[in-house]
Amino acid sequence: MAANEYRKPLPIPQPHTRAFWQAARQNQLKIQKCRQCGHVQHYPRATCTACWSAELDWQTCTGRGTVYSYTIAYRSTTPEFVNDDPYIVAIVELEEGVRMTTNIVDCPLTAIGVDMPVQVVFDHVTEEIALPKFRPA
Ligand SMILES: [Zn+2]
Repeated sequence: MAANEYRKPLPIPQPHTRAFWQAARQNQLKIQKCRQCGHVQHYPRATCTACWSAELDWQTCTGRGTVYSYTIAYRSTTPEFVNDDPYIVAIVELEEGVRMTTNIVDCPLTAIGVDMPVQVVFDHVTEEIALPKFRPA
């Protein structure tokens, strides 16, 4: 699909999420790490959820994780996703310890399961936005 044909909702990078989206565009998965207490977190926020510090760095992830939970959407209620049915929505737990809501791709519906090892892939849906998704490792 050409980038200008993408019709699904897109993230709008904000000051505290811009580095995440810039990294994704370069096929890198980054999470925030607190400079004060070492806490790692996802999704990106303006402050640390453990100590409220605003001194946050970005840590590059391995891109490896496991399926923490998932569901299969057989009938999407959102018009933009109807042509994707069925598809897998999952929460992936990264090796770094944070969880990320995402899609599992390149995976038969009968093969998906909790604790399945997965690896990040980037879906470059526009010139600006690449969505991190995961496939079986
Ligand atoms: Zn902290």
